[in-house]
Amino acid sequence: MSTDDEWSFETLAAHGVSDGEALQPPIHLTTAYRFDDAADAAARFQGSGGEIYQRWRNPSVVAFERSLAVLEGAEAAVAFGSGMGAIASVIGATVGAGEHVVAPLSVYAETAKVLRGPFARLGVRTTFVDATDPAAVAAAIEPDTRLITIETPANPVLALTDIAALAEVARAAGATLLVDSTFATPYHQRPLAHGADLVVHSATKAISGHGDVLGGVVAGDAERIEAIRDHGVRAMGAVLAPQAAYSLSRGLRTLALRMERASANAAELARRLENDPRVSLVRYPGLASHPQHALAARQMDRGFGAMVAFEVAGTEPLEAGRRLYDRLGLIVRAVSLGDTHTLVTHPASTTHASMSPEQRVAAGIGEGLLRLAVGIESVEDLWRDLDRALG
Ligand code: PLP
Repeated sequence: MSTDDEWSFETLAAHGVSDGEALQPPIHLTTAYRFDDAADAAARFQGSGGEIYQRWRNPSVVAFERSLAVLEGAEAAVAFGSGMGAIASVIGATVGAGEHVVAPLSVYAETAKVLRGPFARLGVRTTFVDATDPAAVAAAIEPDTRLITIETPANPVLALTDIAALAEVARAAGATLLVDSTFATPYHQRPLAHGADLVVHSATKAISGHGDVLGGVVAGDAERIEAIRDHGVRAMGAVLAPQAAYSLSRGLRTLALRMERASANAAELARRLENDPRVSLVRYPGLASHPQHALAARQMDRGFGAMVAFEVAGTEPLEAGRRLYDRLGLIVRAVSLGDTHTLVTHPASTTHASMSPEQRVAAGIGEGLLRLAVGIESVEDLWRDLDRALG
């Protein structure tokens, strides 16, 4: 179909981009392609556009990349075998020895780990700041800052970062602004429209939508995307497999429908939890009580996503949180998000267990905090499960 601006997000997502007669992108299961003769082989290596080898390009992967680029309003996109493959490839393609990155204190743990580990060993310096404060990011800029990486909404308390304000900071510094928009999905947030240079997703989450495939994707201008592809896919080999690309293309077809339902469920659960005396705190960007609700309304579209964090009231929050976690019957105790099922995590016991209780308090992560990654079930069933577990 045409990719005109005139079509709505829902329509573009439902149709996707697929060349040729096949309505859905076929799974191209071949690592190499036959050349007609020496001239043809030479022409392909000169960039004639003909296929060569799967790590170089695969039509199933291209179909996913093009569909995703349309939904993000980007010139181009490049897919990876996981979200971490995508993030590490952006860093590797953008920053070199002696150069500098600004990253959020509250960033996905593995992103912090690659910056503190492999990239630090290669001479890349990173300053971690409270990125929800644009002045703190501006103050961390150095002459060699090449990359500002942010996550919004961020795990686990759904703090937001002002994309437009940081785009200004990045522009003034001559740095690239990368936004990890995994929690929002392209349905709820299009960072490029707010001035970001690149947007990255763990496609493992809501883009897949069915909890059965790993993937990552970066979208932005064609020049940056080509450099990231050359580095991350062709050289470092963080390739997305064609079968996974097919699953991700299929996930995109129903992204709007799933996010509409999941975000409506999340908004309703957040509202009920907030009005419940058994609950002491709820964080959801769509609630007027969220400290950055006005920013959420400015930079998020069609609702506020499917992630909700809350704390159980009580004098022993750790025990109260764990008890509720253990009592849930329908809601599944598992990491990840963006699945058809609603998933629950207890950050103090799992993802944030390596922090001290004091560090957790400073990051706003209560000992009893639970994070819901809301799915597409009946909201009444989800509430029944929560209500029963709250006792
Ligand atoms: N970014 C965010 C915000 C995530 O939540 C995750 C995974 O949980 C990742 C990146 C990494 O993605 P993947 O697990 O697909 O490598």
